[in-house]
Amino acid sequence: MQILKGIAVSPGVAICPAVVIDAEDQPIPRRTVSYDQVRVQLKRLDTAIESSREEVGKLRDEAAESLGEELAAIFGFHVGMLHDAQLTDQIRRMIETDQVTADYAVYSVMRRLGQQFLQSESKLLRERVTDIWDLERRMLRHLAAPGRTDLQKLTAQAIVVAHDLTPSQTASMDREKVLAIATNLGGRTSHTAILAHALGIPAVVGLERITSATTVGETIIVDGDRGLVIIDPDAEKLLEYRQEAVRMAEIADTLVEIRELPAVTRDGTELRLYANIEFADEIDEALASGATGVGLFRTEFLFLASEREPTEEEQYQAYVEAIRRLDGRPLTIRTLDLGADKITRSMYASGEYQERNPFLGCRSIRLCLQNLPLFKTQLRAILRASAEGQIRLMFPLISNIMELRQAKMILDDVKEDLEDQGIAFYRDLRVGMMIEVPSVAIQAPAFAREVDFFSIGTNDLIQYTVAVDRSNERIANLYSAAHPAVIALLRDVIRAAGRAKIGVGLCGEMAGQPVYTMLLLGLGLRSFSITPPAIAEVKRVIRAVSIEQCKRVARKVTQFESDRQVLSYLREEVAKVMPDVYGGRSIAY
Ligand code: PEP
Ligand code: MG
Repeated sequence: MQILKGIAVSPGVAICPAVVIDAEDQPIPRRTVSYDQVRVQLKRLDTAIESSREEVGKLRDEAAESLGEELAAIFGFHVGMLHDAQLTDQIRRMIETDQVTADYAVYSVMRRLGQQFLQSESKLLRERVTDIWDLERRMLRHLAAPGRTDLQKLTAQAIVVAHDLTPSQTASMDREKVLAIATNLGGRTSHTAILAHALGIPAVVGLERITSATTVGETIIVDGDRGLVIIDPDAEKLLEYRQEAVRMAEIADTLVEIRELPAVTRDGTELRLYANIEFADEIDEALASGATGVGLFRTEFLFLASEREPTEEEQYQAYVEAIRRLDGRPLTIRTLDLGADKITRSMYASGEYQERNPFLGCRSIRLCLQNLPLFKTQLRAILRASAEGQIRLMFPLISNIMELRQAKMILDDVKEDLEDQGIAFYRDLRVGMMIEVPSVAIQAPAFAREVDFFSIGTNDLIQYTVAVDRSNERIANLYSAAHPAVIALLRDVIRAAGRAKIGVGLCGEMAGQPVYTMLLLGLGLRSFSITPPAIAEVKRVIRAVSIEQCKRVARKVTQFESDRQVLSYLREEVAKVMPDVYGGRSIAY
């Protein structure tokens, strides 16, 4: 049994065999297996060799047809190697004698062979080394269970253990089969973490070496509350966690009745609790969790989950479906927030989006303003959908006023086009912007004159304020919503919106963390947009406090100088209000 500590990003406990997805560009770690597992590994090897042979054979035939027999002979070397008994026996022997995984044996034998080729006197053999690497990767891909792109095709329930998962891999995985996620990389608000939370999948990230410590098929426990992963748990640990799972289910049951109750403080102030969603089909669950609308529709996930760019019609259909499911409740659509860690397959393939500092690069509204056809297509789809229900539109990652004006001008252009074409839309659609960059938070009064509402995106606002990459596990301890500078910005933005009499909400993960609820209420926030699984818990705090009490908390917090002081004070305060819930429990969410 081995216990690894990482960053808890999505609550819940899962116990299940693991599938391990190594990074394609990383060395394969040496993983040993038990004596009983050796046969399984040999079988995996045979299957992988067979599939590789089939694949190369097919490639050879296709090349022969399109390029001619002479060029197709390039694949002859690959076919020959895959049928070379000396090579395959060497891999088999390594699995048997060293009791290692098939992946490691393939990697290690092929690497050694590659070195021999490289050191050869013959230029021809030296040049062949790329074929060896190619073959190695091909066999490893077939061994990967499942391959990096095959998360949709899991045959049984599993815990996905990976070096890292992109938001697009997470978005397209089979939600019924993936019981939990554990990754080497990642931070508290990386998009993969946010998505796992939204889908209700327990997740721990930033485990640094989970892929090398876990063997395919091994039972592991993911504890998404404490940020722990237990590999090959003993009987006692298993029992402890099975009991814990029952206890958690009981706690979850106590929240069920809260879902139906209004989000109103003890002294009668009514709050708006909206949901953050990535896909329209999350709405039913969000409403059942107590949401009264959608405060953030992350529309880029439609792009991330699909092989190609969705057409205007497909986007329009997705928005109309959201409207239909909301049945008259408000829908806030955020325009595309692609770039940084949210790269579509076609962007990835084009290679154009590999930037040196992606979070400071051409992402979000910047990317849209540089790709007008993409941006205008989405705006058309949103405007057309506005004829069907209550839509509000917002622009993400605005960092200066000219950018906002340009985005609004393009929106006006698209409105004009639609008008010329006689296509219906709602003319007075409310237009807002996200506050995610300190420059804009500082200049909030100026921006408040130009939009109908603000939505504060703390996930990004924190990373840009404290200069900490939100997805970097190595500095995750420095990423904190409790940083006094972040709180000062929140206070100023909420105040600026109040003075300008425009709406202001908060849609970063902070909105769903009950430890911050009293502070946010005390700062004057009245609209929260939250990942659905966290709505009931925040509502429970809201219903237990008064605005006066929260104002006192906020006043006190603004006197602290460190995030630690802020957090420990907020933890004490929420524990005072609800000792039975938060008394003995450390709250991560
Ligand atoms: C945010 O930055 O807080 C936000 C809500 O946007 P995202 O997490 O999608 O970057
Ligand atoms: Mg953001």
